[in-house]
Amino acid sequence: MLALATMGAAPASMAAPVGPAVPVNEQWTVPGQVLVRFASSASASAIAQANASVGGRVMKSYRFLPQLQLIRLSSSVSVGAAIARYQARSDVLYAQPNFIYKIDRTDLTPNDPLYPSMYNLNNTGQTGGTPDSDVDAPEAWDLTTGSNSIAVGDIDTGIDYIHEDLKAHAKPNTAECNGVPGVDDDGNGYIDDCHGIDAINGDTDPMDDNGHGTHTAGTMGAVGNNGKGVVGINWNVTIIACKSHDSMGNGTTAAIIECMQYMATNNSYGGCPEACGFDKATRDAIASNGAHGILFVAAAGNANANNDATPNYPSNYFLPNVLAVAATDHNDAKSGFSSYGLRSVDLGAPGSSIRSTYWLSSNPDNFYAYLSGTSMATPHVTGLAALIKAQDPSRDWRAIRNLILAGGDPKPSMDGKTATGRRANAYGSLTCSGQKVSAPIAPLASVSGLKPVIVAAYNINCANPAGKLSVTITPGNVVLRLRDGGRGADQVAGDGTYTAKWKLNPCSPGTYTFTFSNGKSITSTVTC
Ligand code: CA
Ligand code: CA
Ligand code: CA
Repeated sequence: MLALATMGAAPASMAAPVGPAVPVNEQWTVPGQVLVRFASSASASAIAQANASVGGRVMKSYRFLPQLQLIRLSSSVSVGAAIARYQARSDVLYAQPNFIYKIDRTDLTPNDPLYPSMYNLNNTGQTGGTPDSDVDAPEAWDLTTGSNSIAVGDIDTGIDYIHEDLKAHAKPNTAECNGVPGVDDDGNGYIDDCHGIDAINGDTDPMDDNGHGTHTAGTMGAVGNNGKGVVGINWNVTIIACKSHDSMGNGTTAAIIECMQYMATNNSYGGCPEACGFDKATRDAIASNGAHGILFVAAAGNANANNDATPNYPSNYFLPNVLAVAATDHNDAKSGFSSYGLRSVDLGAPGSSIRSTYWLSSNPDNFYAYLSGTSMATPHVTGLAALIKAQDPSRDWRAIRNLILAGGDPKPSMDGKTATGRRANAYGSLTCSGQKVSAPIAPLASVSGLKPVIVAAYNINCANPAGKLSVTITPGNVVLRLRDGGRGADQVAGDGTYTAKWKLNPCSPGTYTFTFSNGKSITSTVTC
C-alpha cells in the first residue's frame, strides 16, 4: 500500500497549504485514530497517497458510507495534525476525531455494600426522605474520585487507622511508616508519626478511643469501591490524624494549636468537628502564616442557636479561611439541632443520620455507625475541598472555598439561615459556571462602636472575586466602598471577601441598617 501510494498521481488539492494542527479534546477522542470521508471522485490511489501522508493505515471502511475510512495514525502524527493534513485536500469531504461517547451520565456507582443506605451521597428516597437531597456524589465521581496525593487533616478524637475501610488512606507519612522505629525519620520533631500525632496525650499514636474521629474520617475518605463498608466523598485521599480530643470528646487549646501547626507542614485541610473552645491562641493558629493554604472547616454547632447573635467558636472566627457548616437532613430541611447564622454560617451539608466508619472498644476495625451532628456535616465540606483540589491541583484555598460556596444548591431551609442559602453540592462545585454568591457577613447582630466596625461581604463568581461593592449605613447615610486588596481591614487580597472599616466618631449607640450595592441589607445594634 505504501509503495503504491507514492506512485499515485498527485491530486490538484496537494497545492493547498496544510494548516496548523486542529485543536482536539483528548479526553473525548480515541488516541491515534481519525475518521476520513473522501469524495466519491477520489481514486483508490489518491486515497492511499493521502493516508500515507500521515503514516496512516486503514482499520475499517464502511459499506453504507462509501469512501469513509477509520485510519490508525503513525505514532509520530497527532490526531490534530492528521486532520489538518486531510482537510487541506480538496478530495476530502471531512476528517474528524474518532470521538468517545458516553451515556449521558454514568453516575459511577461504587461497590461498597453500605453505599445504598448513604442518602447523604445519593438520595433516591431510600431512607424515606426526598430524592436528590444529597451532595450529588455519583455525578461528581464522574469527574474525579479524589487522589491519594491530596491530604486532609482530621482534628478530632483520632482515627482507627487500622479500620478495614480507612487503613489504606491513613498512612500519610511514608517516611515514618517505612522508617526506623524510634527514629524521627523525616525530622519533623515527632518520632514514628506514621498516621499523625496525638496532641492530647503527647505522643505519636492518634488511635481513636471515642469513635467520633473515625466517623468524620470515613465521610471524608473511607476507601471507595473496595467492596467493604461505606464510601467517602473521596474514594482516594490521604488522611492525617491529629488527636486533639480525648476519649470523652474533650479537647484543649494547646492540642488544637499543635494540630494546626502539625497540619500546616502537610498543607492539608483542618476540620474541627466540635466547638473547639474560644480563645485568641486558637484563632491565631488558624490565622497564622504557618496555616496559610489551609482551609479550616468548622461545625456550626448543635445548639439550634443563631450564631450571628450567640457566637460559636471556632466556626465564628472572622477569618477568610474558616468555613462554617450547618447540618441538613434527608429532606434538605435544617437538622433540628443545627445552629445557623445568616452572616456567620456559610452553607449546609448533610448531617442527620450519616453512616460512616466507627470505632468501638468492643468491636474495632470493622464497625460502622449512624451519627448525627454538625460534626457529620463538616467532613462533607472538608471532603469536597479535597475533591476540588484533586480535580485541579493548581487551585488554592481561596478558589476551593469559593467553589464550595458558589457550587451549592439553593435550598429554602438554608435561605436566611446561612450566608449562601445553599447546601453543599459536589457536582455543582466541580462544574461551577457563572454561579454568583453575594452576601453580607459582617457586622454580626451586635457590635461595639468604640472600635472601627468591620463591614464585609462575599462577592464571588464560582472560584473568583466578582468585583467591588459599596454599602450605605443608615441613619447617617454613610457610604463606604468595600475592597478586596488585602489592605487595612481586608485580610486577604483576591479571595472574594470584600471589606471596609466604619469609624463612628463619636460613637453613637443604636440599630443601624447596612444596605449593600448588591441589594442585600442587614442590621446591627451598635453599643458604645
Ligand atoms: Ca517524624
Ligand atoms: Ca469502602
Ligand atoms: Ca479579601
